[in-house]
Amino acid sequence: MKSYDRLFIGGEWVEPSSNSVFEVISPTTEEVVGRVPEAKEADVDRAVASARDAFENGPWPSMAPSDRAVVLTKVSEAIRDDLQGMAELISNEMGSPIAWGSMAQVLAPTMILDYYAGLGSTFAFDTVHVGLLGPVMVSKEPVGVVAAITPWNVPLFLACAKLAPALLSGSSVVFKPAPETPLDANVLAELFTDAGLPEGVLSVVPAGREVGEYLVNHQGVDKVSFTGSTAAGRKIGAACGANLKRFSLELGGKSAAILLDDAKLEEAVPLMLPNAIMNNGEACISLTRILAPRSRYSEVTEALVESVKAMTVGDALDPATEVGPLVAERQRDRVENYIRIGQEEGAKVAIGGGRPDGLEKGWFVEPTVFVDVDNTMRIAQEEIFGPVLSVIPYEDEADAVRIANDSEYGLCGAVFSGDNDRGLGVARQVRTGTYMVNSNVPIDFSSPFGGYKASGVGREFGEDGLELFLEKKTINLPAGYTPDV
Ligand code: NAD
Repeated sequence: MKSYDRLFIGGEWVEPSSNSVFEVISPTTEEVVGRVPEAKEADVDRAVASARDAFENGPWPSMAPSDRAVVLTKVSEAIRDDLQGMAELISNEMGSPIAWGSMAQVLAPTMILDYYAGLGSTFAFDTVHVGLLGPVMVSKEPVGVVAAITPWNVPLFLACAKLAPALLSGSSVVFKPAPETPLDANVLAELFTDAGLPEGVLSVVPAGREVGEYLVNHQGVDKVSFTGSTAAGRKIGAACGANLKRFSLELGGKSAAILLDDAKLEEAVPLMLPNAIMNNGEACISLTRILAPRSRYSEVTEALVESVKAMTVGDALDPATEVGPLVAERQRDRVENYIRIGQEEGAKVAIGGGRPDGLEKGWFVEPTVFVDVDNTMRIAQEEIFGPVLSVIPYEDEADAVRIANDSEYGLCGAVFSGDNDRGLGVARQVRTGTYMVNSNVPIDFSSPFGGYKASGVGREFGEDGLELFLEKKTINLPAGYTPDV
């Protein structure tokens, strides 16, 4: 049991403004494993005020980026020192299988911190060039006070995807984690304090949607960095647009994996499946639509069913587990509802569809494969956010590309082919921000990541991810003057 009775605001653990608390419930045992105070509007006011003060009067924005990077490195090292403890905490919060979680939920965030720490020495914050009318300096300055809002599915990963570049930029951050996963956010606050982050530069306000909306609309916030559902992203984009506030959005997905007619299934399926049922299917980049050539449809279906049958479903903390419980009872209800909808639409369950035997406690759903799916069905168009795959037949390569693109989303995708050039040709035609050709790497932290269409606005990771937290200032200089940069 991990309990907090105070909120981390302005560099201190302070009394919350109300008695309201979030209980964190293990999706495996359904028992309470943690408790934190719920932040309310008054707490957000306090957090934004201290972030503004740190930005306007504190040392952080004017420190050398390489000195700010030292703090990121220290936090990365501290996370790696207790990798197992952090992985257990996150699996207890939201049900991620610990073997996968140790890598993706914990090790990956340290790689993100390390990558941005490295940019502290290599990124050109100031450049000078000869303009059309004389010498010009372009200075990239911190955007100001950032509201960082994240969902529960990869909590530490998404926190680091925002905090690492935002803090490196010299901005200060009010971080609102999801109510399901506030514990790792508070641990992160402790690590940043130990690493020497100045007071006020980071505050953590665990809260739900309404307080999130209050934070987004707060006059003291310069930039909103949001990851979550497309529905919430639309509202946040509209609110920021009305106030001409900077924003970036990482939203939902319904990504397609295309198996071309020359794909070697014995190689393609093991590469594809972990990214299809990643994190119990609770991942924005999950390859939830499997596009199979009609001529090989039953072969593909059989290979998938056999692989899914071999997956171990169970306790999130068991290192053998490949599919754990869903984050909450309402999430299981949602996924089971989609399984019902798929059957009503005429798709057939080839494997799964129910609750696994022998797991009476916990919010488990069997990994499920639907066959005879048409891309117009709701199960092929809507984000289910659970371990549910749809196998969709196509006629030829052009038809496969058409179906892959027939989605409001455009986040990720994959193609598997015996010919890499042919695969790359398909990759160029699919309208998504990330793509895999005979690969199982959906995100490279040194490269841009984000969505086309309703999957988002802006790109995280790589230098793009840092630029999200920088304003560009052009300074025209007198002839003959070249400042040191
Ligand atoms: P959600 O949109 O309901 O909530 C996400 C976060 O935003 C939570 O902290 C929530 O409290 C807050 N929130 C919700 N509405 C808000 C509003 N109007 N104003 C301010 N804050 C608000 O999403 P969820 O169901 O918790 O998470 C799953 C979604 O996140 C999926 O759609 C998934 O695809 C998406 N996601 C996207 C990425 C990506 O990088 N593109 C990564 C992970 C998850």
